[in-house]
Amino acid sequence: MAATLMDGKALAARVKSDVAREAEQLGSLGLATILVGDDPASEVYVGLKHRDANEVGMRPFDHRLAADTPEEDVLALVESVNADDDVDGLLIQTPLPDHLNEPKLLAAVRPEKDVDGLTPYNAGLLFLGRQTHVGATPLGVMRLLAEYKVATAGTRAVVIGRSPIVGKPMSMLLLAANATVTTCHSRTQDIARHTLDADIVVAAVGVPGLLTREMVKVGATVIDVGITRTNAGLVGDVDPSVAEVAAYLTPVPGGVGPMTRAILLENTIRAAKYRRGLLPFP
Ligand code: NAP
Repeated sequence: MAATLMDGKALAARVKSDVAREAEQLGSLGLATILVGDDPASEVYVGLKHRDANEVGMRPFDHRLAADTPEEDVLALVESVNADDDVDGLLIQTPLPDHLNEPKLLAAVRPEKDVDGLTPYNAGLLFLGRQTHVGATPLGVMRLLAEYKVATAGTRAVVIGRSPIVGKPMSMLLLAANATVTTCHSRTQDIARHTLDADIVVAAVGVPGLLTREMVKVGATVIDVGITRTNAGLVGDVDPSVAEVAAYLTPVPGGVGPMTRAILLENTIRAAKYRRGLLPFP
């Protein structure tokens, strides 16, 4: 069996064209990023977010601070962007430099503008089963599953990874979609014991080749969130041999990555609706 590749690039293009239409109807929309320091990968990610925003007719706001900026100055910037009426969505690019209290700064984002879903308020509502803003990566995975009509209700799902930005919200979304969810992490003994039983496996770790063919049930759906830069280009967490047993598989690149970028824009549309009172914010 050769897995059907789930084409995130094509679906993302459709999401983006819907976003562009909605953005036009809503009027001027703003997506702000705050980048502290000059981490090269973060600079690339922020640059892509601004390019994407421009492409769909949103105004990007690019706030950059030196790596040694004191915490109170970063906090003051977050508060000023919170109050900026031209900005609908705000995200703080992570990781932040070590001297900054990352949870405290993330928590300072106004929840209506928190398009990464990382404030305790929005993360808490997800935990309670009342979804507001949720991170673009796990939402993008759910959209891909829906697009390929992969059932979730009553299935067994395994998420490998438990970060606040991917693994945990991913497990919560699958649980909300009525899957029976197991979350694996770096201390899990014998991950294969869990994955071999799973109808859906989401790998969100950052270890190339972590999930091999021997760990996957025939006919399972495998979502590869991992991205590692190698000399051969970007690689995921899933060994290519998994395509021989899985029914559906996301490629890297071209699977979850483009969906993350597109759904961030969709989250900004939702933020604009919250701010304009077109959607009630709980
Ligand atoms: P992260 O914060 O480093 O979290 C990694 C998670 O993997 C942690 O929960 C960690 O467990 C777990 N882990 C580490 N080694 C493991 C092992 N050997 N076996 C099982 N679990 C292990 O990373 P992240 O931000 O969640 O990102 C995960 C990956 O997805 C990275 O490759 C990142 O580049 C990629 N990513 C891709 C997209 C996209 O759009 N495609 C978006 C975001 C992230 P502990 O909690 O026990 O430490």
